[in-house]
Amino acid sequence: MTTPRELLESYLDDALGESETARLEQELRRDEELRRRLLAVMGERDRGEHTVGAIWRRHRLSCPSREQLGSFLLNVLDAGLRDYVDFHLRTIACAYCLANLADLQAQQQADAAVIQQRQQRVFQSSAGLLRKR
Ligand SMILES: [Zn+2]
Repeated sequence: MTTPRELLESYLDDALGESETARLEQELRRDEELRRRLLAVMGERDRGEHTVGAIWRRHRLSCPSREQLGSFLLNVLDAGLRDYVDFHLRTIACAYCLANLADLQAQQQADAAVIQQRQQRVFQSSAGLLRKR
């Protein structure tokens, strides 16, 4: 029986099979304790020039999709996934996802401005209709 520690070591060594890697990454998304353990193992293996973030990116731990990041911004993700995305952004500080998030944020703000303008137009035209009566 493989211990979680051995599994995490193999994962960091890229020594796991595809299905085992997928299963572990799924587990990591769900299990906060396991994420802590992985970070601890990564920290122990850290030797100066290798930051945790660099190791993480090298091993390409699954980034959330753009859709998931959008849902994260709107605060409509279920708790487990939200924690994972939060961990990915804050702790791992994945540059790719942070850039994606900033872009989505700008887009959502632009959308909100358009909706507000539309509501104002509808309000003004219905106010005009009411006056005509
Ligand atoms: Zn990412």
